[in-house]
Amino acid sequence: MKIAELFYSLQGEGSLVGVPSIFIRTSGCNQRCAWCDTSYTSWNPEGAELTLDQILVQVKTHLARHAVVTGGEPMIAPDIIPLTERLRELGLHITVETAGIVFKLVGCDLMSISPKLSNSTSHGQWAA
Ligand code: SF4
Repeated sequence: MKIAELFYSLQGEGSLVGVPSIFIRTSGCNQRCAWCDTSYTSWNPEGAELTLDQILVQVKTHLARHAVVTGGEPMIAPDIIPLTERLRELGLHITVETAGIVFKLVGCDLMSISPKLSNSTSHGQWAA
């Protein structure tokens, strides 16, 4: 699956603000928000194609007990379900950050949903 970046930081928002976390940012999004600050995961998706094993090797180099799967839109990543299952096997607390437009039965402890309204558009088109 295409991963834009994987890094260790403090969660900067929500109920887990300040918690040391491993961020796994998938590349690719089905929306085109005018305010998007991660164009490298939406209309200009960048990153490396990594296997689940390669992702897990990087995750294990960090000591955090929390993982945040974000994007882009992680729910459209083809291996999102097995990725979250593998993270769960490591005993990590898993947050999935999503726009809530696509739903899959991922393994997670917290689903952080940021709904998008009519000023976001799907299918690669910009809002009028
Ligand atoms: S849903 Fe998020 S990642 Fe996708 S275009 Fe909107 S702000 Fe960017």
